[in-house]
Amino acid sequence: MSQNELLELRNKIDDINLEILSLLNERAEIAQEIGKQKKKSGVNRYDPIRERQSLDLIMEHHAGPFEASTIQHIFKEIFKASLELQEDDHRKALLVSRKAKSDNTIVDINGEKIGDGNQRFIMGPCAVESYEQVKAVALAMKDQGLTMMRGGAYKPRTSPYDFQGLGEEGLKILRDVANETGMSVISEILTPHDVEKALDYVDVIQVGARNMQNFELLKTVGKVQKPVLLKRGLSATIEEFINAAEYIISEGNDQIILCERGIRTYEKATRNTLDISAVPILKKETHLPVVVDVTHSTGRKDLLLPAAKAALAIGADAIMAEVHPDPAVALSDSAQQMNIPEFNEFMNQLSPYRSESPIG
Ligand code: PEP
Ligand code: MN
Repeated sequence: MSQNELLELRNKIDDINLEILSLLNERAEIAQEIGKQKKKSGVNRYDPIRERQSLDLIMEHHAGPFEASTIQHIFKEIFKASLELQEDDHRKALLVSRKAKSDNTIVDINGEKIGDGNQRFIMGPCAVESYEQVKAVALAMKDQGLTMMRGGAYKPRTSPYDFQGLGEEGLKILRDVANETGMSVISEILTPHDVEKALDYVDVIQVGARNMQNFELLKTVGKVQKPVLLKRGLSATIEEFINAAEYIISEGNDQIILCERGIRTYEKATRNTLDISAVPILKKETHLPVVVDVTHSTGRKDLLLPAAKAALAIGADAIMAEVHPDPAVALSDSAQQMNIPEFNEFMNQLSPYRSESPIG
């Protein structure tokens, strides 16, 4: 084949490409028109029977050289693209996305804000064990000027024989201590059934890692007027995490705080692997504040401080860590909770790294 013949064939291909392009766009405009008509008459946009008829018609006329399956695949993609064109814009952009809302969401917890550019701390015991235990932590937090106290009343434990938490009694202790010391309460709720009851006690509902894809729980907390702290699932991708938050916001509750708490990897040196880059990704992709839980991500007391420094440096809106007056006797996560002098040291060491002015 001469150079000229090749050039001629290539020019033909280019012309055909442009023809296909213009036909595709013409087709898209007609599909949009159909979409509008369907919307007016309240008809569902996706019509599998109609799609089947179109596909059959195409296949009746198809005579190669492409395989039938190839042609079907190409047309299926065209159908899909047209359907997407007909969908409302809000369905394409998730409600939690920056595309949907460019301003940062600021979650107000009794006047303390998460996501306003000031980096905050959420501290407290792993599990509520007694009034005295919670009170000791609350007083230490108060001395440090902190107000957001966490503590588990319902504990999702790996073994059914481990301490499961004090339940409602634990919530009551948290509320009483919080009222006496000026704290706010952040506590995990495990089932949709307990959400209503929790509203009387907590200021923020925590959805734990093991429940990140408990869709009924997500929908239930989406229907209430309480901030939700949503933890990343043990093996959840960022996309799955974002979609879990979307479940909540799509029910009407936009007061959502995302919490990176480490993910499961092959690495055994830490309890989980802290996915620190998830913080800027989540902040870029969504408008929600992002917290880093240094306790459950590292599972190691000696890593709490460096992990917290990294989290502050990378732009986390808050740090979460566990504090217990006597970790050696704690009923859960005994090895990784700080005692009160360690907590004070942790706070002192972090103070130069903490941003207290808007970081935008
Ligand atoms: C917790 O924060 O108490 C907890 C159980 O953590 P996670 O759900 O991240 O494992
Ligand atoms: Mn814990």
